[in-house]
Amino acid sequence: MKTKSIQSIKGTQDILPSEVHFWQEMERKIFEEMALFGFSEIRTPAFENTDLFSRSVGEQTDIVSKEMYTFEDRSGGNLTLKPEATASVVRAFIQHNLDKINTLTRLFYIDALFRRERPQKGRYRQFHQFGAELFGSEHPEADIEIISLASSIFKSIGIDEITLKINTIGSKSARDNYKIELKRFLKPQFNKLSEASRERFEKNPLRILDTKNSQEQEILLNAPQIFEYLSEDDKAHFSEVKMHLKGLNINFEIDPYLVRGLDYYNRTIFEFISNEIGSQNAICGGGRYDSLVSQLGGSDTPSIGFAAGMERILLATSNKERAENIDCYIVCMGNKAQDWVLKCANKLRSMKFSVCFDLLKRSLKSQMKEANRLNAKHAIIIGENEIKDNKFQVKDLDTGKQQEVAFEHIIKYFKNL
Ligand code: ATP
Ligand code: MG
Repeated sequence: MKTKSIQSIKGTQDILPSEVHFWQEMERKIFEEMALFGFSEIRTPAFENTDLFSRSVGEQTDIVSKEMYTFEDRSGGNLTLKPEATASVVRAFIQHNLDKINTLTRLFYIDALFRRERPQKGRYRQFHQFGAELFGSEHPEADIEIISLASSIFKSIGIDEITLKINTIGSKSARDNYKIELKRFLKPQFNKLSEASRERFEKNPLRILDTKNSQEQEILLNAPQIFEYLSEDDKAHFSEVKMHLKGLNINFEIDPYLVRGLDYYNRTIFEFISNEIGSQNAICGGGRYDSLVSQLGGSDTPSIGFAAGMERILLATSNKERAENIDCYIVCMGNKAQDWVLKCANKLRSMKFSVCFDLLKRSLKSQMKEANRLNAKHAIIIGENEIKDNKFQVKDLDTGKQQEVAFEHIIKYFKNL
C-alpha cells in the first residue's frame, strides 16, 4: 500500500516554479522603487517575544486577541510568529540604536507573516507583505514620502484600479475623548449592533466604525466624527497632507470611518483598496505612529509606515504564465561524450549562459523534445563521432540554422551571439 502523503497546513501556500517569476518580478520592482526613495532593507527574525506584539499592536486588537500563533518555548519563554512587521522593525531600530546613526532612518522589508484567520481568497495564515518605515520626522512631508512610495510601487507593478483612502485620527487624548462620545451615541442602539461590534463596544469602540454590516453603517451615518475632536495642530497636519497629495496628483478619498485595526496609529492613516479583487480588497494599510518607538523603550521618534499584502497584489494584477527558457541544451550521445558535455556546460555557464543536458541517457529524439520543452535557444550535439572529427553541430532552435564548429570554437560561437 502506498504511504499516505503529508499535505501543507490549511491557509499556507506553495509558490510553484510556474508562478514564482511573478513574485520575483514584484520583488525586483519593490527593490528598485525602494532604492529610488532611499530606503534600505532590514530583515528581522520570524519569531519574537509575545510581549512585543501585545505592547505595540495592542491587547484588544483582532491580531493579538485571536490571530497570533503563540507558543511556549521548551524553556518556558512565550514566543509568537510575527503577525506584522512594524513591531519587529521598531524593536530592531531601538535595539541597534539606529537613531544614533542618522536622524532620519528609512527602512523597508519583504517578509512572511502569520495570522490564524479563516482562510479564503486573499486571506491566508501565512502571507507576505512588503512595507516601509520612515523614522524621525513629524512633518506632513514624511507622510507624503511614504504614501507616494507605496503609490509608485503599485504603479510600477501595474496596479491601476486602486483607491487611496485617508483619514486622520489625531492624538491619543483626542481619540479617548472621541471614544467617550462615540459610546454615548451608540449606547441607545446597543441592541441593534452585531455581536462583533457589541464585543468591541467596551474594548475597542473605534473598530465599530469600519464595520461591513449595512445596518450598522446606517446607524453610524449620524455618529459624531473624530475630526471634530482633533486639535488645531492635528487638523493643520492633515490639511498639509491633503495639499501635497493634490500637488503630486495622487488621487485620494477622505474616509471618516477609516480607523485601521492597530492601536499604535495616530494622525494620518490610509489604505489602498483594489477595485478588482472582491471582498478582501485592502491591499495596503499604513499610518503615523509617533509614540510607538518610545512606548517600546526607545527615544521619542515620530514615525510613519505602510504594509502591503503581496498575495492580494498578485490577485489584482493580470498574470500570464511564463514558460521556462534556457540559452542552450546539450544533447549527449554515448557514454564517452559525457565528460565533454559536463565540461562544455560548465564553460558556458561560467560565461553566464544557462545550460541543461540530459541526465537519463535518453535517445536523441527525446533529448531534442526536452530541449524544446525548456525553450532552449540553442542546441549542441556532442557524440563520439563529433569528438573524433572535432566537428560539433550547433543549432539555433529559433531559426533552425545549423553550424558545424570545432570544440574550441563553440565558446566563440556563443561569445559572438
Ligand atoms: P484586513 O482588514 O483585510 O484583515 P488588516 O487591516 O488586518 O487587513 P494589515 O494588518 O493592515 O491588514 O496588513 C496590511 C495588508 O496585508 C492588508 O491590507 C492586506 O493586503 C494584507 N493582509 C493582511 N492580513 C492578511 C492575510 N491574512 N492574508 C493575506 N493578506 C493579508
Ligand atoms: Mg485583518
